[in-house]
Amino acid sequence: MARVADGFWGAVGETPLIRLRRASEATGCEILGKAEFMNPGGSVKDRAAIGILKAAMAEGRLVPGQPGTIVEGTAGNTGIGIALAANAMGWRSVIVVPETQSREKLDYLRMIGADLRAIPAKPYSDPGNYVHYSKRLAEELGAVWANQFDNLANARAHEDTTGPEIWNQTGGRIDAFTCACGTGGTLAGVARALKAKKPGVRIVLADPGGSGLLDWVKTGTPKAEGNSITEGIGQAARAPGNLAQARELIDDAIRIEDPEMLEQVFDLQAHEGISVGGSAGLNVAAAIRVARDLGPGHTIVTILCDGAARYQSKLFNPAFLRERGLPTPPWLE
Ligand code: PMP
Repeated sequence: MARVADGFWGAVGETPLIRLRRASEATGCEILGKAEFMNPGGSVKDRAAIGILKAAMAEGRLVPGQPGTIVEGTAGNTGIGIALAANAMGWRSVIVVPETQSREKLDYLRMIGADLRAIPAKPYSDPGNYVHYSKRLAEELGAVWANQFDNLANARAHEDTTGPEIWNQTGGRIDAFTCACGTGGTLAGVARALKAKKPGVRIVLADPGGSGLLDWVKTGTPKAEGNSITEGIGQAARAPGNLAQARELIDDAIRIEDPEMLEQVFDLQAHEGISVGGSAGLNVAAAIRVARDLGPGHTIVTILCDGAARYQSKLFNPAFLRERGLPTPPWLE
C-alpha cells in the first residue's frame, strides 16, 4: 500500500476490513466488513467508476487533460465516483438518476459539479428508464457511456482490487462472502478472485424485497415481489451482464427484508460507531444468517457499501420510517 496516494484515482481502494464485534459475538464466527464507505467518493462504486474510466482510456476514448464527457445512469454512487474521477482529469460528467433516490445523493452530485439529470423512476422495460435514457443521451452528446450494468470493466475492477484485498487481509481464512447486487460487479469480481484461490468459498447473494435476483439465482428467471427502502441494490426484471457472467459462482441466495436491514444499520451505529447505509446493513444481516447456517468458527466477509449520511432523510427519519411501518432509531424518537 502506497503511503501517499496519487489524487482521487490513487486513493480509491485499500480499505480496512473491520471486525464487526456484535455480529461476531452473536454467531461465534468472525464477521468482517470491507469498509468501502472510506473510499474518497464515499462508496464501493468508486472502484467500478475508475475501472470503467481506465478501460475507456486504454481504448483511447478518454485522454487526461483533453476534453471528454462521460454519461451514466446510476442510483447515485457510481455517478459520484465518475464525477469526482472526471473532475480530477478535466472531464465533464452527465449523471442520470431516478428522482426517487435520496436527496442527499442528488445534492452531492450537484455540489461536485456533475450535470445532474434527475428523471422519473420507470421500470427497465420502459424506454424512459434511467439506463436507456443515459445511453441515448451519451449517443446524442457523442460522449462515453459508462454502462456499469453491462460493461465488464466494472466486475474486473473488483476482481483486480476488492477480491485480492479481502484475500490478503484475511490471510486466506475466509469461508463465505455475501453481498447484495445492483450491477453485480462487486459480487462477480470478488467471487471470481476468491474462488480462484479457494474454490470452496461460499458465495451468497443477498437480495432485498422487490428484487427478482433471488429467483434468478435459484431458477434462472427473475421474479420480483414486495419492496424495500434500500437504494442501489436489487433488480426487478433482469440480471445485468456483470452479474449474469458469474451465475455459476453463486452458491445460494437469501432474502433480507427492511426491518432486518434496519436493525443492523441502527445497531452498528449505536454500539460500534460504524455508520453505514441500507445496503451495508442488509449485507451484515445476510452475513449473520450465513454464519448461523455454517455454525461457529467460520469467517464471513461482506461489504459496507456506503455511509449513513447519504440516507439521513430516509433511514434516520422517524416520520419516513413510521409511514412505512418500519422500526425507528430509538435515540431519535
Ligand atoms: N450498495 C450501494 C449503496 C450501491 O450504490 C450499489 C451500486 N448501485 C451497490 C450496493 C451494489 O453494488 P454493485 O453494483 O457492485 O452490485
